[in-house]
Amino acid sequence: MADSEIEIKSGDLVVPGQKIGVIEMYDSGKGTYTQDGIIFASIVGEIYIDNAEKTVSVMSKEKKPFIPKNGDTVIGVIDMVRKQMAIANVLNVRGFDATTDFEGMIHISQVSKNYLENLADAFKTGDIIRAVLMNDEISPFYLNTAAPNLGVILAYCSECGEILQADKDGRNLHCINCRIIEKRKLARDYGKFTL
Ligand SMILES: [Zn+2]
Repeated sequence: MADSEIEIKSGDLVVPGQKIGVIEMYDSGKGTYTQDGIIFASIVGEIYIDNAEKTVSVMSKEKKPFIPKNGDTVIGVIDMVRKQMAIANVLNVRGFDATTDFEGMIHISQVSKNYLENLADAFKTGDIIRAVLMNDEISPFYLNTAAPNLGVILAYCSECGEILQADKDGRNLHCINCRIIEKRKLARDYGKFTL
């Protein structure tokens, strides 16, 4: 087989069994195997050619982990509310589904710019919130909802489960069925949000 038959460069997408080189040119690296002097891809991924080491490898695209970053805007569902701390299950980061859901903690001091005595006045279990991540790659993740565009974007009535409506002044929520009033730390675009 002539070398010209295999024109592979870094970044090319390959599938298992695809010829990616010959042993006269490269050593076979990760994600490859050799047979009769020919190097094949053993996984789906991108070609990586190390010219210094004369090695050809295939890097899996699927295994690239999603890494949440400080400052990322996330969407989550409130899972638990304690006196000082709430926990949200984060579902969506930067417009993408999180590859693995992760938990974010919100301390009462990070909820609102205004003083908050009781976290139950800001969140209830099942609320959908928009928040900002406060740390990188370190578990547990901490969330902040103090900015006007952050906080609860959708909430359900504690009594009947109906979606709560924001009052005209945007301060409280009310249920059109039960007429009860509920408090939340609302995002400015409550009820008309985009993810
Ligand atoms: Zn209700």
